[in-house]
Amino acid sequence: MALIVQKYGGTSVGTTERIKNVARRVARWREQGHQIVVVVSAMSGETNRLIALAKEIQANPDPRELDVAVSTGEQVTIGFLAMALKEIGIQAKSYTGGQVRILTDSAFTKARILSIDEQNMRRDLDAGNVVVVAGFQGIDVDGNITTLGRGGSDTTGVALAAALKADECQIYTDVDGVYTTDPRIVPEARKLERITFEEMLEMASLGSKVLQIRSVEFAGKYKVKLRVLSSLEELGQETSGTLITFEEDSKMEQPIISGIAFNRDEAKLTVHGVPDLPGIAYQIIGPIAEANIDVDMIIQNVGHDGSTDFSFTVNRSDFARAKKLLEEQIKPHVGARGIDGDNRICKVSAVGVGMRSHPGVASKMFRTLAEEGINIQMISTSEIKISVVVDEKYLELAVRVLHKAFELEQVAATNI
Ligand code: ASP
Ligand code: MG
Repeated sequence: MALIVQKYGGTSVGTTERIKNVARRVARWREQGHQIVVVVSAMSGETNRLIALAKEIQANPDPRELDVAVSTGEQVTIGFLAMALKEIGIQAKSYTGGQVRILTDSAFTKARILSIDEQNMRRDLDAGNVVVVAGFQGIDVDGNITTLGRGGSDTTGVALAAALKADECQIYTDVDGVYTTDPRIVPEARKLERITFEEMLEMASLGSKVLQIRSVEFAGKYKVKLRVLSSLEELGQETSGTLITFEEDSKMEQPIISGIAFNRDEAKLTVHGVPDLPGIAYQIIGPIAEANIDVDMIIQNVGHDGSTDFSFTVNRSDFARAKKLLEEQIKPHVGARGIDGDNRICKVSAVGVGMRSHPGVASKMFRTLAEEGINIQMISTSEIKISVVVDEKYLELAVRVLHKAFELEQVAATNI
């Protein structure tokens, strides 16, 4: 007997028929003798709908009240799923985040989980219940309802698995696992049987939308065994999805590149001709950070004749604000020659733990892009990834040719 936490996303509970399907899937795991905690998202589109309604009332909705309103989406699905389970003879009990005391900080709309009280859940599980918990939400010390940021139900699932020391956390979604890249762009993309936790973290932060990045961080911190699976497969014909592992498998030959990730939501800004002096980088990035604008890549060239260029990327939705800040406050202050910006760029990345021990990945990546006439505007690397910024019109081409160049459509031992 194992203790399993299963999380079902919005599409998996998008209709009452699908909620009944989830109940049948949960029932099968129960029949095999496992204890099950289920975390659900709101029915698909519901969170967006509630946010849009809120904005009709207040252009910038009050964060505390927004959390009160949007957290209701998940409260509906826990009730429905518990009913669906009872309807087929499975004992079940639903709980909101506050009811299981998922204690968070008070950062409304992006709260972080501080602790979880697992006593009620344990008692119910031991009494033979399936415990159904609302994803995405918690409660702060003063009893205010909080939410964990978009996609936050993944984090609820992983956090509950960590608190309960579950044997596995299964994330059920509308795809059957983690792919070498988005199959909508590359039809030959292959489902990965396993991916290391570090690679998953990079893929999530580089734009792969399969898991909320915070949930992956959480899984890493608490060593939660995580699996991504499809909730849309026929019962009895399920595949095993993708396992996110902590060990790099030494028996199996590790491919050098595991996947190609991309992000369309990027914008680039350049400050030209800034003095090559201590403190300049801080004077540029400091005000940007203070304005709560997330900076991704940062590049500064070697100084020449006492001055240099400084470029960085931000989320596309922050582009206008960042540019204004640069032009009005930062440029006069640091004495830069000019400001340049482009919000029609994207980032394409090759990810793989194998590149640690194999030189030549960057060279292959750059050659492949050059052969297609794709200009690389910025480059950044870490131990296990290489990212390039290119014009957004090349996004699909770049992803396709890199996927092919690294032979990701094949189960290859080495791909360079
Ligand atoms: N319902 C929330 C959202 O749409 C949380 C989730 O689905 O994970 O972001
Ligand atoms: Mg989701």
